[in-house]
Amino acid sequence: MFAIAIDGPAGAGKSSVAKAAAKALGFTYVDTGALYRTIALYMLENHICLEDSAAVVAALPDVEIALEYGPEGQRTLLGGRDVSQAIRTQEVSMAASKWVAHVPEVRRFLVGLQRELAQKAHVVMDGRDIGTVILPEAQLKVFLTASPEARARRRTLQLEEAGEPADFDQVLREVVQRDQQDMDQLAKRAPDVVELDTTGLGFSQVVETLTGLARERIMEYNKEKR
Ligand code: C5P
Repeated sequence: MFAIAIDGPAGAGKSSVAKAAAKALGFTYVDTGALYRTIALYMLENHICLEDSAAVVAALPDVEIALEYGPEGQRTLLGGRDVSQAIRTQEVSMAASKWVAHVPEVRRFLVGLQRELAQKAHVVMDGRDIGTVILPEAQLKVFLTASPEARARRRTLQLEEAGEPADFDQVLREVVQRDQQDMDQLAKRAPDVVELDTTGLGFSQVVETLTGLARERIMEYNKEKR
């Protein structure tokens, strides 16, 4: 199988870029943030104190997560219930990034599931530790980044378009806070990672750069296999 690992900070456009590139290449797009969000949702719904990592770890075996893929893309299931929308709230987002993602047992709990997905299909998988921990053998590893201001600008626009006008300074503070929370994962880079700084680049330019890189690597990969 061919795997593309995309890591980078929140708001760098990973999910929209990865989704578009996956579509162009005929690959499956796997959003791994959904897994951390689903664990956070479970803890919130079951009133498990997120600050108490022992309680979070004790509850992990009861968290039944599944990812499914269909024409509409990824669906996230918690105990068989579709939580794809429920995990998108600000509360879940903060709970995932501030607490859940820092518990080593949580990260280990999710390794097998993520690797299995990459064994079943050609994937574009995005997250924070995909090229370093989950798929170190990925044929293409990309670190997608942009300045905090550019990421906050994009996020403010997205919120406005969704009818939720947002204050740029507030969004920028949140972007910086998420960066600090995700620092331990983001500081690690795979030695063969390609860094793609998207500050000042349009969405389609980023997607074209990524798919171009992917096509080159796919050609090399197919030659090596022959
Ligand atoms: O990517 P997304 O914003 O949905 O991820 C939610 C949170 O889950 C991130 O802020 C990060 O803390 C965590 N995460 C992670 N490793 C991943 C994907 C997400 O630690 N592979």
